[in-house]
Amino acid sequence: MHWDNLKLGHYPRKEVGSEKSALYADRKKMTELQPPLVLGDKVWCPRCREYVKVIRVAGAAKIVDVDRRTVYNYIKKNKVFAVKVAGNTIRVCSHCLLRENQEEQTKGAAA
Ligand SMILES: [Zn+2]
Repeated sequence: MHWDNLKLGHYPRKEVGSEKSALYADRKKMTELQPPLVLGDKVWCPRCREYVKVIRVAGAAKIVDVDRRTVYNYIKKNKVFAVKVAGNTIRVCSHCLLRENQEEQTKGAAA
């Protein structure tokens, strides 16, 4: 009977962006509602095949310097993984977003 071992303390914790992730961790309790697999403050992205940070559409748009529309377009075309969270807002996988952007850049910058 080692009940102490059952604590949820063994997932990898990184100090990266801990402030922002705290925001999501706060929602962790609500994640039974919908989002797929959650590990700490991260969500499983089937596209990236890893646990990723999900970010707001507005934030995503800023990062890749496009319209929010464009981001929604990416979601529609399944270019980025998106989850709906409580409050009917959408979070997108930051990893997909950057990868998609990278691909385009690579094409353009191919020497
Ligand atoms: Zn992804």
